[in-house]
Amino acid sequence: MTRTPFIAGNWKMNTARSGAVELAKAVAKGAPKGVSLGVAPPFVYLDAVGQAIASPSLLLGAQDVYFEKNGAFTGEISVEMLKDLGVKFVLAGHSERRHVLGEASALVARKVQAIYAGGLTLVHCVGEKIEQRDAGQTFDVVKRQLEELTSAMQDPQRLVIAYEPVWAIGTGRNATDAQAQEVHAFVRQHLAKSWNKDFADRVRIQYGGSMKPENARGLLSQPDIDGGLIGGASLKADAFLAIAAAAL
Ligand code: PEP
Repeated sequence: MTRTPFIAGNWKMNTARSGAVELAKAVAKGAPKGVSLGVAPPFVYLDAVGQAIASPSLLLGAQDVYFEKNGAFTGEISVEMLKDLGVKFVLAGHSERRHVLGEASALVARKVQAIYAGGLTLVHCVGEKIEQRDAGQTFDVVKRQLEELTSAMQDPQRLVIAYEPVWAIGTGRNATDAQAQEVHAFVRQHLAKSWNKDFADRVRIQYGGSMKPENARGLLSQPDIDGGLIGGASLKADAFLAIAAAAL
């Protein structure tokens, strides 16, 4: 089963308007064929970035969304609003939302549902904290987070799992190739059990956590690693494109 690698940049709360547009243009210009490439700028720059790239070579993504369609939810953004701006994929359950902003699993589950039901590609982020890994709980934690998905999600092209060990995010300490592959294989087994093997074979599972040009090839050559969710290294076009090239 060949899966088209998906490399996505999560810009988090970084960039300013002109820098965001320049970065997106540079990434779109250098986008290699054979890889799905995406960027998720801050909400306020989605429109400007979307207009600047207007090219199928680079997918526009959002870092978060609210599950309601509209109404009195001050500060929130709906799936329809994102679609209106040309957004194609949305992150849910990123560790910074779970552990810094305090988003509970029940809320992540509702967001996951809204993203998928709205016709967008869902990037569902899962991963353990260091104390959970040290206590031998990695698989339990990841399994519980995967239970935020539902088997009503039947299109494997629109479901992407990002395995992001919390201890590797923004720390410069990536998981080893073997540590990452072990959890990716576990995720795929879970999908095969909960859906079926054909579905599991088609879902892309990204690795995230201090991925950079120097470690990308080793991670991306693992059999169950189908791309990356990139934070820090996605803020420099050269580094991001070098990671994309390593996926080929
Ligand atoms: C992330 O935020 O999803 C991430 C993986 O960040 P970094 O690449 O900076 O570790």
